[in-house]
Amino acid sequence: MLDRKFMYLLILASLALIFILNVYVSIPTLWLLLWIPAIAFVILNPTRKATMIIGMVCTVLMVVAEFVLRQNFIHPEEAVQLLVTGAVGWAVFLMASLSLIKSRKLIKRLRGLALTDPLTDIHNRRYLELYMEKAIPICQRNDDPMTLIIFDIDHFKSINDSYGHNAGDMVLKKVAEVVKRMIRHSDVFIRTGGEEFIILLPSCPLQQGMKLAERIRKEIESTSFTYKETRIWVTVSMGITEYIRGQDLHQFIERADQALYRAKNSGRNRVVAI
Ligand code: GH3
Ligand code: MG
Ligand code: MG
Repeated sequence: MLDRKFMYLLILASLALIFILNVYVSIPTLWLLLWIPAIAFVILNPTRKATMIIGMVCTVLMVVAEFVLRQNFIHPEEAVQLLVTGAVGWAVFLMASLSLIKSRKLIKRLRGLALTDPLTDIHNRRYLELYMEKAIPICQRNDDPMTLIIFDIDHFKSINDSYGHNAGDMVLKKVAEVVKRMIRHSDVFIRTGGEEFIILLPSCPLQQGMKLAERIRKEIESTSFTYKETRIWVTVSMGITEYIRGQDLHQFIERADQALYRAKNSGRNRVVAI
């Protein structure tokens, strides 16, 4: 993608070129060229507001420039040409800009869907991979601590077996809601699959992460999960680890997973750190 500053320079240069051209070759239809930098501007700022403002600015520029260049006298024939040029330009510009805005919105929406877990409405594993591609180098450069919590709902299969799959889904959603309420905006919350979640805590050392993990574990244990008026008891086991310089995402998760394995094997409903 072209650098924004470079694009703006290109827009200004092409505007200057169009004006110079119009001084020497006085043909009203030449003003159609004005809509090329206008569309380039909307590519950089794909909003309806930008479209409207740029549309107006271009039209006013065109009319004022024509008056100045022709010393306040426009032949009626040329005035008609100018009017038609303006209207055609406006129409093409509007169509191009609005379809551009629409496709940008669609891409944004599809991107959101591709990186979101549909059941819990939190991020998925793919999002974590993309996030960590940037976060790991920053963390290493700044020597910033980063902590990862991986947690898994205890005996979830028996919740499904006893109360049904819908009850299981309700538990997954509610667990995600509880956690969402307790983490910071900058923390990254992921459903990695099934009944397993990751919370990534940027700029957070292990000790601080452990306090949060313990608070979340307690909160889930004391939260009332009810399905068709039946109380379902839910607990989670958690593994937690701090990022070690040089680790890739797989190694980082692997270490937290080992801690989770220990939490499961030592009785569940607990936090284990490595
Ligand atoms: P543990 O305490 O060792 O974690 O045992 P568990 O029963 O929680 O773990 P196990 O891996 O045996 O079972 C996980 C179950 O989660 C099996 C699978 O059918 C269920 N599951 C996975 N995804 C979903 C989902 O989206 N909705 C529901 N309701 N169940 C799911
Ligand atoms: Mg489980
Ligand atoms: Mg599991």
